[in-house]
This record gives sequence, structure tokens and C-alpha cells, in this order.
Amino acid sequence: DRSGPAKPQTTIFTVMSALAQRHGAVNLGQGFPDESGPEHVIEAAVAAMREGRNQYPPMPGVLELRQAIAAHQRDWYGLDPSVEEGVVVTAGATEAIAASMLAFVRPGDEVIAMEPFYDSYKAAVELAGGTIVPWRLEAPAFRPDLDRLASLVTGRTRMLLLNTPHNPTGTVLDRAELEAVARVAIERDLLVVTDEVYEHLVFEGRHEPIAGLPGMWDRTVSIGSAGKTFSVTGWKIGWATGPAALVDRVKGVKQYLTFASGTPFQYGIAAALASGREYFESYLAGYAERRELLAAGLAGLGFTVYEPQGTYFITTSAAPLGYEDGMAFCLELPERCGVVAVPTQVFYADPEPRPEVRFTFCKPLAVLEEGLERLRKGL
Ligand code: PMP
Ligand code: GLN
Repeated sequence: DRSGPAKPQTTIFTVMSALAQRHGAVNLGQGFPDESGPEHVIEAAVAAMREGRNQYPPMPGVLELRQAIAAHQRDWYGLDPSVEEGVVVTAGATEAIAASMLAFVRPGDEVIAMEPFYDSYKAAVELAGGTIVPWRLEAPAFRPDLDRLASLVTGRTRMLLLNTPHNPTGTVLDRAELEAVARVAIERDLLVVTDEVYEHLVFEGRHEPIAGLPGMWDRTVSIGSAGKTFSVTGWKIGWATGPAALVDRVKGVKQYLTFASGTPFQYGIAAALASGREYFESYLAGYAERRELLAAGLAGLGFTVYEPQGTYFITTSAAPLGYEDGMAFCLELPERCGVVAVPTQVFYADPEPRPEVRFTFCKPLAVLEEGLERLRKGL
């Protein structure tokens, strides 16, 4: 038998972006901005290339970037990862997630993850031989049920895989929720891997890393990415930070996945992370305006809109428009309206039909307006 294991399904992002291209649709599906990152960031990467920084970086990442990541964690959150031993640069957050699962999850282990969950989580847990255990966030509020979390922990639970701000619901865990999660992690001696790639996109409340809570540093790996914050998703520069003992395990796997990647981009992101607070403020303000426009527009069209506290996604329900199956709705939408969105049922362990549909607002206002106009005409 040469077939090997079953081929995984093609991701929803590939499927939907292909449909967008085929129909010339406004792509509010896959989350990538239309505009490139700030000029000084692009220039820093170009300068690195021209200076001949085009060979392999050190496996854990170039020193300047590790310093910048450690400084970012310190300046924003009061965390203090060691530049030498507590930071590893990865090929996007995606590699940091995969390496963390392969580093810590043993065959038969269970990993509890907030559901709906970003699609690579389940795949990465399963690559490691583990099982993902969904901890569901229920509409309409999408808040975590903390009693339920405690009841999901078994003798096989190895890890809590958190995501805040949360894709696709936009939920941002507040201090009390983080404290409750931390209590479970400490009582049941669990590792925590926390995906915080939308840390700079919080509209209500504030982002707080669970790694900073009492008793959590030594058991937590925090994952970040430059893709969203600096509008350079194609550069695929991400990172994991934490205590030396855990980051060492992540590096142990990462060295055999990619070894290292993206030298000039790493220099670009070192410059990006050194941007003043004004950059982060205007980035957030720009997205706040987009969020308002898209949320109001979709509500006006009859969708139920679940306003996100963070991220650049809005989860809606198409049920008031007569759709109980978000997948059917999204497959029809490009041809019918010239708009692409993503059905969130693909982010559930059990992909039964659900009416929720995710739209991204990481597009210029004019593109969002065009998308809304097309929906208005076609729906
Ligand atoms: N985690 C979440 C929650 C995401 O939304 C994304 C990007 N869509 C990633 C991880 C992957 O990030 P990167 O592009 O840096 O690999
Ligand atoms: N993170 C982006 C999203 O959720 C897309 C990532 C990807 O294309 N794999 O839409």
C-alpha cells in the first residue's frame, strides 16, 4: 500500500480565494490586507537584502529580531523572555503552532482548544498523534464557559491551546477569564500555548497575555506574528516566547521543520517592532473605522452581526436571510454576488452545517463599500 495516510482536505482559505479569483469577487474571506506594510518596514527588508543579508539566519532567528521581540514583550506586557533562550523566530505563527504541538503533545494526549478554532490547530495536534478537545464558545456572546473547561480536563489532557483575540469570533479574554483559565492550568498541571497574533487589534477591553499571570510563566508558550500587525502576511515571520525550558523544546522541533527562514524579512520586522506607539495607534484606529462600516453594513443587510472585540473578522449569522448552512451560502455567494466569505463551520471539530459566516474587514473602506453594495444588489 503506497497511499499513506488520508490526504488532508484543502483548507477553506485556498478554496475560497480560488473562488474569489474565478469570479472576480471582493474577497472578504481569507484574512490578508490589500495594502502592504509601512514604508519603513519595507525599506528595512530591502536594505537588508542590498546589504547582502540573504543567507541562512541563525536557527532561532537573527539577534536583532529576537532583541526586538523580547523588548516588545517587555514594553507592552512587562514580560521578560531571554533574548538568547526565550525567543524563537518561526515561519509565521503557523510554524510556531505546529512546532509547539510536535514538541509537547504525545500520542494519545488531549489538547483543549477554544472552538471554533483556527484550522491549523486540529491538524497540528493530530500530526503529533493527539486529539483536539473542543471548548465551545456559544453564540451570541461567544464567551468561554469556565465551569465547562474544568469538566473537559481528563487524565490525558496535556495542554490548553488558547487564542485571544480569537479568530473567528473576535472574543478577547478578559482578566477574570484568564485568571479562571490559569487556575485550571495550575491545578491540573497543564501547559498553555497561547496564540496572540491579533494582540494589536483590540477594540474593546485590552489584550492581556496569560503568560503574565501569577504561576503561568513557567508553563506558557506565547505565539505572535508580524503578518497581521504590519500587514505583511506573505513574509511569514512569527515567533514563540516563554521560559527557556519550553522554548528549547519548540526549537528542538523547529530546527527540523524549516531550520530557519526569511533573513531579510526578519530584519524588516526588527525595524517594525521598533515603531513608535503612534504606529500601533493609527493601525488600530484605521481598523476601528473599517469594523464600524462592515458591521453596520452587514446588519443593514439583515445578517445577525456578532460585533468582535478584537481581530479583523466579523462573525455573522446568515439564518435571518434564510440560510442554515453557511457552507452552502458561501459557495453560492461568489457567483451570485461577487463576494467571498468563510463559513465558520470549518472551524468546528464536527463540521455540521451552521449558519455562521465570517467576513474580514482587513480591506480599504472603498473595497468594503463595494462588497456591501454587491451584497445589497445580489442577496
Ligand atoms: N493563528 C491565527 C488565529 C490566525 O488567524 C492566523 C492567520 N490567519 C495564524 C495563526 C497564522 O499566522 P501566520 O500567517 O503568521 O502563520
Ligand atoms: N489567518 C487567515 C484567516 O484566518 C488566513 C490564513 C491562511 O490562509 N491559512 O483568514
